[in-house]
Amino acid sequence: MICELDHQLERFQSVYGPVRSWRYGSSLGIDPIGERSACSFNCVYCQLGDIQQPTCQRQVFVATEQIAQDLVAFAPWGVDVVTLSGSGEPTLALNLGEILSLVCQLTGRPSLVLTNSSLLGDPAVRSALALADRVAVKLDAITPEQFRRVNRPMTGLTLDQVLDSILQFRQCYGGQLAVQTMMLTEWSEAERDCYRDLMQQIQPDEIHLNTPTRPRPLQRQIDSRGNDPASNSSDSNRWLKPVAVSVLAEFAARLQQQLAVSVRYPDFEPRV
Ligand code: SF4
Repeated sequence: MICELDHQLERFQSVYGPVRSWRYGSSLGIDPIGERSACSFNCVYCQLGDIQQPTCQRQVFVATEQIAQDLVAFAPWGVDVVTLSGSGEPTLALNLGEILSLVCQLTGRPSLVLTNSSLLGDPAVRSALALADRVAVKLDAITPEQFRRVNRPMTGLTLDQVLDSILQFRQCYGGQLAVQTMMLTEWSEAERDCYRDLMQQIQPDEIHLNTPTRPRPLQRQIDSRGNDPASNSSDSNRWLKPVAVSVLAEFAARLQQQLAVSVRYPDFEPRV
């Protein structure tokens, strides 16, 4: 009876943080997905653990009214950015456009969406994302084999589709576009050249090179929506071997010189 009551009192909180982001500063998080993680990928490094609802189907997971209520509790929103991310792929949320309008009207703060790029081929997703001040698109792979191994997408999703969709989105999006890339191994010269050529086509405003610095929980932990490694330090986590910061730094410098675009990477030495 007491457990049941506790459960009722512990309502899911769709707004969390603020968390400190090395890319965006102080960031208030909005989770449009909810208690059960949902994504079209199941990345090997995902800090949510194994995705509980693998899906490409858009739906309303958390009502816009609930997000509005939760957001009001964080007034006056003294943060650098309000970020839609959380428990999975935010573009799966059918109310993505409503949420972005709400953030703009209520907080007046810049909005950011972190997306895995898999749904950008959908015109409805692109027009909802157009309301965001910033969008960061994920591109971790430059070969289909790497895509399958690192991102473990749902059947039917291909790297070619993702790349075409990013290019399509780039052409219509007027906000600030970043490409974020998680490196799990040191790439070969050929892989680096291929990535540079792709960036030349996409023309992002920024590139973010990253490597796993947070553990992958073996089971879903709602706290892992934030970015504090200390909150994820239990034995039920698996640490992936990161790429050395010197490798990221060298690749970043080279891209910056070749493309004349800002390339950023975390300058703290990750836990090995
Ligand atoms: S795209 Fe993001 S939420 Fe989805 S599995 Fe990968 S890291 Fe996790």
